[in-house]
Order: sequence, then C-alpha cells, then structure tokens
Amino acid sequence: MSDDFDGLVAVVTGGASGIGLAAARELSRRGAQVAVLDVRPEVADPLTGFACDVTDDSSVRTAVAGVADRFGRIDVVVNNAGIGAQGTVADNADAEWLRVFDLNVVGIARVTRAALPYLRRSPSAAIVNTCSIAATAGLPQRALYSASKGAVLALTRAMAADHIREGIRVNCVNPGTVDTPWIERLLAAAPDPDGERAALRARQPHGRLVTAEEVAAAVAYLAGPASGSTVGVELPVDGGMAGLRLRPV
Ligand code: NAD
Repeated sequence: MSDDFDGLVAVVTGGASGIGLAAARELSRRGAQVAVLDVRPEVADPLTGFACDVTDDSSVRTAVAGVADRFGRIDVVVNNAGIGAQGTVADNADAEWLRVFDLNVVGIARVTRAALPYLRRSPSAAIVNTCSIAATAGLPQRALYSASKGAVLALTRAMAADHIREGIRVNCVNPGTVDTPWIERLLAAAPDPDGERAALRARQPHGRLVTAEEVAAAVAYLAGPASGSTVGVELPVDGGMAGLRLRPV
C-alpha cells in the first residue's frame, strides 16, 4: 500500500457513487483521511460522509467547516459532483441550463472558496476537478453538458494560474464513458439496454468502458506528490478518444 497521502485530509464531492466513490477509496487506500461531501452521504468506514449540496453555499460552508473541525486540516479537494443533460442547444429550457451550470460549475467555485483557507495552510495542497471529454470532443446531443464541462476546463486553468503561487496545484481529469451508476441509469432507460451497452463499448477505441478505478488512479496521481510539477492540465482517461483525435458523430 502506498502512503503518499499519510497524514493528509481529502475532500471528495459526489463521493458516494461512481467516480467519486472510487477516488475516495483510492485516496484512503493511499493513506488519506477522506471526507465524502454528497447529497447522499452514506459511505462505509473508513470514509466519512458529510451531507452537502454543492448548489447551496450555506450547505457547502457548513460541510467544509465540519471536515476541518473533525480532521483539523484539508489538503486535497476533488471537485467531482456533477450531473448530465442530453439534447441539442434547443432542447433544454433556461432553467435547466442554469440548474446544470449551478451544479457542475458554480458548485466547484463554492467548494473551492470554502476550502481555500485550509488549502493555503497545507504544504501538499492540490485540487482535482472532474471534467469530461465532453469539454473538447464536440459530442452530439450533449450541448448543455458539454458547455458546462468546457467551463470546468477553463475554470481549472484559471484556478491553476490564480493559486499556484500559493502552493496549490489545480488540474482536472477528462474521463470518457465510465462504467458508473450514472451510465447504468442511462442504459436502463434505453429501449434496448443490452444493445445500447454493446454499441457504447464498440464506440470506445479500446473496446470497453473506462472503469471508475482507472479515473480514480488518475485523480490520485494529480492530487499527490508524483505530479508535483504538473499544473493546469487535463488528463484524459478515455481509452484513446482524445489522444487519437477521435470525434464521435
Ligand atoms: P454518479 O451519478 O455515479 O455519482 C454522482 C454523485 O454526485 C452521486 O453520489 C450524487 O449523489 C452526487 N451529487 C449529485 N448532485 C449533488 C449535489 N448537488 N451536491 C453534492 N453531491 C451531488 O456519477 P459519475 O458517473 O460517478 O460522475 C461523477 C462525475 O464524473 C461528474 O462530474 C460527471 O460529469 C463526470 N463524468 C462522468 C462520466 C461517466 O461516463 N460516468 C464521464 C465523464 C465525466
């Protein structure tokens, strides 16, 4: 077992499911004490759950203060909570645009704002945002979601520039299609879930879905000392979509 995060405290938003849960487990396995901030905060020991809605500033401030009270410090923040949206630019009403941006983008600002005073005191401070290949790939039928993740990518670079002189590194992961409860929900709603799953696999360059554990390993790399000179980048974990310059249509 690696001990890269021994003595450090990590906050993972949306850490009760999917990518966030895998990242929380990986950071814990590597020695961190991990606080999961989620609207559904039930998690198994050794993770600790804190009820938190990233769309509610007071909820975020209370949860982050609760983590600091409980563990005495915050060294790593994984801004992972996010939701999807389907359709073209014409398919979502204004309220839906604002709802998705409020969660996927402003949520990162709220959690980061609350955690910054603690991160500034850490000698090993890092923020990892969960972005998506949707930020750059031009995915069909994902206009709103892609715009929100494009904003996450831009925000990651801007935050990296603003905080590197304070010793806080900021980077993001760009997952492709990851086998999580989110994807399970989408498949379950399809007319032919098995056919859709096979088609989804076939569309991936490496012929399968990305695993949450593969994304978690990338998150832990960007959060830890092995990436100490890596700042303001996006790390694709997508089976080759970005690296091979593939553009799904
Ligand atoms: P998931 O639905 O399995 O997990 C999301 C978690 O976020 C859940 O535990 C949920 O309770 C929590 N959450 C939702 N709204 C919240 C809120 N307002 N405040 C706090 N927590 C909230 O999803 P996932 O597939 O693990 O996705 C996690 C992240 O990864 C998202 O940002 C998503 O955009 C991104 N992502 C997912 C995929 C994929 O294919 N699954 C691909 C690229 C990027």
